[in-house]
Amino acid sequence: MKNLIWILCSMFLITSCNSNPAPKTTKDVKTTTDQKKERPSYAVAIHGGAGYQTRESISKEQDMEVRSALNKALDAAEEILKKNGTAGDAVVAAIQILENDPNFNAGKGAVFTHNEQNELDASFMDGATMNAGAVGGVTNIKNPIKAARAVMNHSPHVLLVGKGAEDFASLQNIEQVDPSYFKVEERLESLRRAKAQEKAKVSKHGTVGCVVMDQSGNLAAGTSTGGMTNKRWNRIGDSPIIGAGTYANNNTCAVSSTGHGEYFIRYAVAHDISALMDYKNLSLEEASNLVINEKLVEAGGAGGVICVDKDGNVSTPYNTSGMYRGFATSNARGVAIYKDEEMK
Ligand code: ASP
Repeated sequence: MKNLIWILCSMFLITSCNSNPAPKTTKDVKTTTDQKKERPSYAVAIHGGAGYQTRESISKEQDMEVRSALNKALDAAEEILKKNGTAGDAVVAAIQILENDPNFNAGKGAVFTHNEQNELDASFMDGATMNAGAVGGVTNIKNPIKAARAVMNHSPHVLLVGKGAEDFASLQNIEQVDPSYFKVEERLESLRRAKAQEKAKVSKHGTVGCVVMDQSGNLAAGTSTGGMTNKRWNRIGDSPIIGAGTYANNNTCAVSSTGHGEYFIRYAVAHDISALMDYKNLSLEEASNLVINEKLVEAGGAGGVICVDKDGNVSTPYNTSGMYRGFATSNARGVAIYKDEEMK
């Protein structure tokens, strides 16, 4: 009898422990989007880079240009998603718009290397198949995000770099341009300033990225960048590294990163967010805040991420003074630049 009571008590304790919600690992977790409670039928989030954006450092004109570009990229993604298009198509459509806009450090307007060249990196991941593709250090591919997706779709590899990546892109009939196409005078000035200080700072006009949940519940993520000003020796950052700059898994979330790439590689940031959801059962918001606002802050890694989970929740934490960012779901939409504003 005593034994039976003991067994019943233990069973009660075990079930009550299991029904406790997962412990909150982040304090002051802030909802980054004002989404309505009901599950959206699709969701997209974009970034145009995290860095030192403050109201003082950005002109009124540039502020407006950036907001308009972010809205155009959201429009392009939404147009596809409303028609039941795929998450992957929406990611590429949105990123292409930002790559073509000189306000961002991706495609045209990319930052300069120490040798005054533009070397571009991009990656793409499909959460349904866990397939991925990436290119690094390319100099003549107009839209590196297209080449990244083509590596996934038309090669047995994940990451191609330099001349080989360019040869592959040409075989795929992906548009190539003269390297001078990417050149924007303002970026050259940034390089000269950085060289004068001999220090590569995270560019305030950053990398671009997009994450999507489509109407079938599939996730995809993509990231494209010129890297960091004054980079040398064919440096490759996190943006073309799957698990660091980009990650998508239909069971958890899709993530695109921006910031000081060396930290994002070492801390496997994009995959870490997915893993915390997978193994620790954290929500998207808890997992992304833990990685960006705790782990990376402790390590000294500046930057942010945009993420969407399998239920269409969006989270966009960053630990810098601003991040060009935006989101759109079937229920709501918003864009923002500075720390003191919500996406609206
Ligand atoms: N993460 C990019 C890199 O390190 C730079 C950025 O996002 O601004 O190449």
